[in-house]
Amino acid sequence: MKITTTIPVLMMAPCGITCAACYAHVRKKNPCPGCRSLEAGRPGYCDRCKIKNCADGRGIDLCFQCSDFPCALVKHIDKRYRTSYQISLIENGLRARAVGVEQHLREEQTQWTCAECGGTVSLHNKTCSECGRSLS
Ligand SMILES: [Zn+2]
Repeated sequence: MKITTTIPVLMMAPCGITCAACYAHVRKKNPCPGCRSLEAGRPGYCDRCKIKNCADGRGIDLCFQCSDFPCALVKHIDKRYRTSYQISLIENGLRARAVGVEQHLREEQTQWTCAECGGTVSLHNKTCSECGRSLS
């Protein structure tokens, strides 16, 4: 899957993951429409996500909009992402809060676009979904 236009703001998950570059979104088979999409097709574990459900319950779209940000739930997933993927979701949220979600996602788009073919690089495995080129 290629990111052909600017990543829509809906493609930022409440926790700070860029859905547009998530392995579940870029895969060819059963691609996930994104945490905040109203379409069906999210993996079951995403439908049951405590963070998404918490944000919904508080009536906010993104965790950084919450007075409790970063709460224990967000800190937990942030640590997991820093450890496994070298990505800080808290930093993503702070960046989006500072420059706006649109600008943050423009930067994400630049980061996760394959230099070789323009395909989308998955933030999880750092591999281009189109040509298979590894970012590292
Ligand atoms: Zn590529």
